[in-house]
Amino acid sequence: MTLGTEQNPLRVAIVGAGPSGFYASEALIRSDLNVEIDLIERLPAPYGLVRSGVAPDHPKLKQAIKVYDKIASENAELNYIGNVTVGKDITVDELRESHHAVIFTCGAETDRRLGIPGEDLLGSYTATEFVAWYNGHPDYRDRKFDLSHETAVIIGQGNVAADVSRILSKTVDELKETDISQHALDTLAESKIKNVYVIGRRGPAQAKFTSKELKEFGELSDSDPIVDPAELALNQASEAELAEKSNAGSKKIYDLFVGYSERDPTSKSRKCYFQFLRSPVELQGNDRLEKVVIERNQLSGDAFKQSARGTGDMYELETGILFRSIGYRGVEMPGVPFHESWGVFPNADGRITENDIVVPQMYTAGWIKRGPSGIIGTNRACAVGTVNALIEDVSKLDTAESKSGREKIYSLLDSRNVQYINYQQWKTIDQVEIERGEAKGKPREKITSIDEMLSLIS
Ligand code: NAP
Repeated sequence: MTLGTEQNPLRVAIVGAGPSGFYASEALIRSDLNVEIDLIERLPAPYGLVRSGVAPDHPKLKQAIKVYDKIASENAELNYIGNVTVGKDITVDELRESHHAVIFTCGAETDRRLGIPGEDLLGSYTATEFVAWYNGHPDYRDRKFDLSHETAVIIGQGNVAADVSRILSKTVDELKETDISQHALDTLAESKIKNVYVIGRRGPAQAKFTSKELKEFGELSDSDPIVDPAELALNQASEAELAEKSNAGSKKIYDLFVGYSERDPTSKSRKCYFQFLRSPVELQGNDRLEKVVIERNQLSGDAFKQSARGTGDMYELETGILFRSIGYRGVEMPGVPFHESWGVFPNADGRITENDIVVPQMYTAGWIKRGPSGIIGTNRACAVGTVNALIEDVSKLDTAESKSGREKIYSLLDSRNVQYINYQQWKTIDQVEIERGEAKGKPREKITSIDEMLSLIS
């Protein structure tokens, strides 16, 4: 029987209710096919990194949630199943039995590693855990970050490094009306950090910030951006990179650094130092981080292909807290092929592959498909591409009517006593968060305990 009709709807399970999960749902709903989508999320709360990754002081970026809410609220084809871990509460094989296709949009949940001695010393953290902590992610709410030191070091010069450095550089007054979690605000209120070093392994022409994010450092109420003019000297290849029209973004970044290097000192109590051509080679300390050994680098290679090489020139920087912000990385899921060195699900245009052969029924979109890069909107085109591939394949999918979709999922979850939640129940939790936030002049106070969320709807 033809698939995608009223009699035999295309039943798709989507794993991960972040931006890519919603964009894939939207693309399926907009297709000419009759679809039934089960959007499965590990946490009770949907929206992935828009909720637990986007910085609390960037509320505009969170507007994307309105779009996702509309998709979930206005389309009966979309069924949200929250608080279900695929691979634990239900297996990938079970989803393949119950649905015609499965799309994995589970993002990149962990960080790349530096691979240097001392990386796991107490006081050395990943940016992801700090970001998830201040954003009230239930898995990270109990983390402790000791901000009693004067110096913090951030390794990496992408937008996540910008978020972490900015949160450490802002005053409580600058954060208290955001949706930052109360536990984070309380810890930041006691922070003794005065110097934040943001360290890039390559030069100022290769920093990966976007200009809007870097510009904010010049506008903070009690922190100054510091750039040593001597560090802005460019080699020939970097000059060629900045002269390239298509690289205007990097030129803007470089110009901002130049502006910062020309500023007169102010009496602001915090300083955020942007430093280049340096790599940490070892983290040292007895029981906990005390200093980082840094090697100066030089660039080698042609324009746009320059890499950093150590010069052997080392120095030490005393610090009690360091954040590695060198990129996210996907994690394995039982039953899904995994590309170990890239940290993604191997795929061809969104069709999951194993040893270069397409695995029937299995698709992927977002960071777990293409790696951790791009802004939220990048995931829309990515998800549309995957859904187009799925639609092309429809005639090849198993058309068995016995694929009962959510009916099968619910019976499996019930038999295992898994407490799942639907979108209406999420909206109840959402409303409580908003009300708790209103009382404090914040857009919301996130509930950080899964048990508490579930108790609100039981
Ligand atoms: P990113 O933009 O890829 O930046 C990673 C940084 O880590 C780069 O500076 C990179 O340097 C450095 N790095 C990588 N490996 C390293 C190593 N072994 N040693 C030292 N440094 C190393 O990643 P991200 O900051 O995690 O951001 C991920 C994506 O989310 C990006 O597309 C970003 O723009 C986006 N995002 C956007 C926003 C926003 O729009 N406000 C906020 C947060 C994140 P090299 O260049 O030398 O590799």
